[in-house]
Amino acid sequence: MRNAINSYNFWFLVGSQHLYGEETLKQVDAHAAAMADGLNKSGLLPCGVVFKPALTTPDAITRAIREANNDPACAGIITWMHTFSPSKMWIAGLSILNKPYCHLHTQFNMNIPDKEIDMDFMNLNQSAHGDREHGFIGARMRLPRKIIVGYWRDEDVAGQLASWMRSAVGAAFSRELKVVRFGDNMRQVAVTEGDKVEAQIKLGWQVNTWPVGDLVGEMAKVTEADVTAQLAEYGQRYDAPSLELPEIRYQAKEEIAIRRILEAEGAWAYSNTFEDLHGMEQLPGLASQDLMARGYGYGGEGDWKTSAMVAIVKAMTRGMPGGTSFMEDYTYDLTPGNELSLGAHMLEVCPSIAAGRPRVETHPLGIGSRNPPARLVFEGRPGMATAASLVDMGGRLRLIVSRVEAVKPIYSMPNLPVARVMWRPLPSFAEAAKCWILAGGAHHTVFSYDADTAMLEDWAEIMGVEFVNIGVGTTFDALKKDLFAADLAWKLR
Ligand code: MN
Repeated sequence: MRNAINSYNFWFLVGSQHLYGEETLKQVDAHAAAMADGLNKSGLLPCGVVFKPALTTPDAITRAIREANNDPACAGIITWMHTFSPSKMWIAGLSILNKPYCHLHTQFNMNIPDKEIDMDFMNLNQSAHGDREHGFIGARMRLPRKIIVGYWRDEDVAGQLASWMRSAVGAAFSRELKVVRFGDNMRQVAVTEGDKVEAQIKLGWQVNTWPVGDLVGEMAKVTEADVTAQLAEYGQRYDAPSLELPEIRYQAKEEIAIRRILEAEGAWAYSNTFEDLHGMEQLPGLASQDLMARGYGYGGEGDWKTSAMVAIVKAMTRGMPGGTSFMEDYTYDLTPGNELSLGAHMLEVCPSIAAGRPRVETHPLGIGSRNPPARLVFEGRPGMATAASLVDMGGRLRLIVSRVEAVKPIYSMPNLPVARVMWRPLPSFAEAAKCWILAGGAHHTVFSYDADTAMLEDWAEIMGVEFVNIGVGTTFDALKKDLFAADLAWKLR
């Protein structure tokens, strides 16, 4: 499957009709080509915009959309009506569209040319009403779509387009994602369960199980030379008193074996559980952390949903500077007025979110009966982030996203043997936690400094998944009413 974000592109479908004559249509094409070129050269978009000649008939529209559907590199279409394009011409095409859809409501020129404006200009530059006709058919057909409004050279407009492109790439990645489960979910846990058939129908995920014994067998094939090469890589990225400790060598062996199984299956996400490590001496710690840093999704205790979401958010934010990790709300600091959540896990937090250079440490686990595992210990960086949780509500999936402000941890916690992040959720600790619990958000999340609420909301809309936003303007009372209404609406779908 495609993993590089710039291996995807988006088709720029510009609508018109034959009413205005060939000269006008030539100008439409020239303008659309200049816009695609300008957007591509802006350096603001993660993916290419592909110019297509103006669409002027129902057959041409249907043909273009069929081709977009069939091109694996095309992650979505961007429509814009430079002139008036009667929208009944779009019904056949839009009814078969199976790619994400963005309606860019813009205009080739920024300003009205005071002295030059005449009826020729008016015939060419009609997006103010042409795009309204186009908007109606999207509304009438109940099509999920992103609507972006503003001058196309404006950085904010390009920024919105860039964010939606990332959501659309996340959708393409999701539809091909394979998740390897080593062992089942942790016994008796509810929220990490879910309908894998429903997840595959809705999101495309192929979630299947592999015996832990196969992983142990793969570990036995790892040579000492393989391990030494892996240790050299650790040495480039992480601090350690010595990398030659047996517990670090063991983690390297686990990482290589897991990676080989994932590569053989074409999988970009996996889960495991401390309850099923038959034949393994340590729970993978450093191994899972380094695999996440390489772009793989991970979920602990058999949490395949969070693992897949970690992989998807990593895929959609490729090249961004912030980092994305598997995360768990672990414990709180409840000083009134300055309440903070301490996020961590038994071991598995991705070093992409580290404020400094992570160090390798080995400590007993306290849970399970295996040898003390090596793991990376570090502080997460301060900054705005999101914590997202996908839960199975029975009959539908719900993505809950909480906007949070990560802070430098207020304590040094010298005896805490795991990576740690500290944050305060918006709008306030109490309101956010009440809303999270009301909506059924899990203890596990995908925690990202790169994917903001809008990017995740667009992804959820593309995938047809319910979205719950907990952020600046959220109140418990309003959310309670929204969830009640949403429950009815989703049952009617
Ligand atoms: Mn956990």
